[in-house]
Amino acid sequence: MIKKEDRVSVLGLGKSGVAAAKLLAKMGAKVEVFEQKKAPSDSPEAIELQNLGIPVHFGAQVDQIVHEQSDWLVKNPGVPYHNPAIQRAVERSIPVITEVELASSVLDVPIIGITGSNGKTTTTTIVGEMLDKSGVPALVAGNIGRALSDAVEDTAGKKWIVTELSSFQLKGTKTFHPQIAALLNVVAAHLDYHQSLEDYVESKAKLFRNLDKNDIAVFNFDNDLCRKVADLQEGTIYWFSIKEEVDRGLFVRDGWMIARMNGEEQAIMPLSEIALPGDKNLENALAAAAISLAAGANKEAIRSVLQSFTGVEHRLEYVSTKNNVRYYNDSKATNAGAAITALTAFSEPLIWIGGGLDRGVDFQELVPFLREHVKVAIVYGETASILADRANDAGISKIVHATDVEDAVRHASKIATDGDIVVLSPACASWDQYPSFEVRGSIFKQAVHTL
Ligand code: ADP
Repeated sequence: MIKKEDRVSVLGLGKSGVAAAKLLAKMGAKVEVFEQKKAPSDSPEAIELQNLGIPVHFGAQVDQIVHEQSDWLVKNPGVPYHNPAIQRAVERSIPVITEVELASSVLDVPIIGITGSNGKTTTTTIVGEMLDKSGVPALVAGNIGRALSDAVEDTAGKKWIVTELSSFQLKGTKTFHPQIAALLNVVAAHLDYHQSLEDYVESKAKLFRNLDKNDIAVFNFDNDLCRKVADLQEGTIYWFSIKEEVDRGLFVRDGWMIARMNGEEQAIMPLSEIALPGDKNLENALAAAAISLAAGANKEAIRSVLQSFTGVEHRLEYVSTKNNVRYYNDSKATNAGAAITALTAFSEPLIWIGGGLDRGVDFQELVPFLREHVKVAIVYGETASILADRANDAGISKIVHATDVEDAVRHASKIATDGDIVVLSPACASWDQYPSFEVRGSIFKQAVHTL
């Protein structure tokens, strides 16, 4: 791995780039940060790094980023592999890694790694709370909140570091070795970045490549692609399933959550006590319980956390009731699979708001769920017309085109009648109109509050 005096280029001045650069400087590497965007008038991140003696270059060219003396390239997870600087590094056999790989090479606590297409933040947050409540000291980091490289210096006294990992982050790993690794589900998403489903599945599978039988691998028994990955790795498997009683792991019997580990069964809790709505959240709850039990949590803590945990902001978050119409913000639903979660979480027919960045998917899988759960579809953004086509395929008679999320809320409030539910669950990324799903969700909430 990276040694003192190695010359390292960090590509991308994001949160992970800043954290990686600071860690590299502490390790004694000669680090420089390159941002391909033009210099802004002020950049607090750049100033912070420059004050630490780390050069930051804006509008950087390939020749500056990768040159004769380069030993390593640490890339922001969002930079695609077809980026010219990455290609140049690959041509010259300069190793390209992501920040989590760097951080894990210096971490001195065991890692819990959680990935999947959907439910990562929810599950990671729940695992953190279950361990905390069980008195098992753990730190939560990764794709969630704080970069792993930043958490490295805070591990004293901790038993675990619980990390949420995206496929973007995992793609740049080789030596990353969690002691407990979980794959929640795999659905076709992020295909513009990964180019093929195989590539996407492969990057998720990287989480498991260094596991041996002393490590625990948690997989969704009900998801075919998860089972495929499970077959290809060496860790000891804990399954979770909402459909079948598994040999080892977490499952459901007669309305109860049951854990079967080392040949023994424990009844954890009745499902009716779980605060989060919907089947997908039940999967998250089972996964979190499996991971936490493997990490030393106790059954009482697991039960108590699942009774009180009502969700993370922008994930099927209840916003307000106006004129006896309930509004939910699920802005984090950036693909069809996540939107299906929202559509199926309620028994009432919904007024659904969807739309956003066009990634070239056709949304066919939404059709049966639109048919069964949606009475009015309000569409906006780049995908408005394709989503309108799917709503039409589903036989929805009222389809409204809105200009943006605020306009969609206005339409929804006019259409809704007593007892209706309005859900923003876009099924698309936000970047055609909004800088992030958080901004999109906050604008939605604001629009609801000002109705
Ligand atoms: P991630 O971190 O993987 O993006 P989140 O926990 O932030 O996942 O949830 C993202 C979206 O996916 C939300 O809209 C949420 O309601 C939905 N969701 C949560 N868990 C699941 C799941 N297991 N399967 C499908 N959708 C889910």
